[in-house]
Amino acid sequence: MKSVLFGTLNLGKLREARMVCNKFGLNLVAPSEIRQDNYVDFGLDAWPGPVPEIEETCQDYLGNARLKARGFWLWSGIPSISDDSGLEVEALGGAPGILSARFAGESCDFNANIEKLLALLQGERQRRARFRCLICCVFGEEREFVCEGVLNGQIGYERRGQGGFGYDSVFLVDGYDKTLSQIKEEGLPVKTHRVLALEKLADLDLSAGL
Ligand code: IMP
Repeated sequence: MKSVLFGTLNLGKLREARMVCNKFGLNLVAPSEIRQDNYVDFGLDAWPGPVPEIEETCQDYLGNARLKARGFWLWSGIPSISDDSGLEVEALGGAPGILSARFAGESCDFNANIEKLLALLQGERQRRARFRCLICCVFGEEREFVCEGVLNGQIGYERRGQGGFGYDSVFLVDGYDKTLSQIKEEGLPVKTHRVLALEKLADLDLSAGL
């Protein structure tokens, strides 16, 4: 099985991504799994040191995904992927977008973000929205592979459901009269933007970069 480093510290994301990628023979390794006592198992000649912290300083998803993937590739020498995602609301000109995680302020929580979103959309009937996910895979100095996944829907008028995270409870998925929270709770077979992007990694030919 081919191995790729997944540059994330988010274990929930890693678990979801592993389930998708294992199906087409891609083994995802977490940065924290590369330790001083096992680096040789990953084909490395030396321990690359502690896991780096890579700041998302770009103004777009791809820039941030590339920054992280490149940072982890430089750190480990192993082909590395990273993702960045967000919610885009048409009536808000694509906001919160890149600011999705901190829409209501630097150290805000999901609840505050949803409250701000619903307040901004008060009285607005055009509520089209989409989740976007960009994944960048870096496997050489000038070798990278980029893929994208999109989930279309609209923003509801109130929260519904308990499942998931982030904006899930107010995001009504096209084709369902349910939010992404309800869909996750009920285990319905909807592919999220992240899953759709990850599935495109099946086309990845890493051999050229190794
Ligand atoms: P991340 O940087 O990819 O972790 O995502 C940034 C932010 O976008 C998250 O903190 C969420 O607020 C929002 N977001 C991204 N994907 C989803 C999703 O699948 N459901 C709900 N919110 C999401």
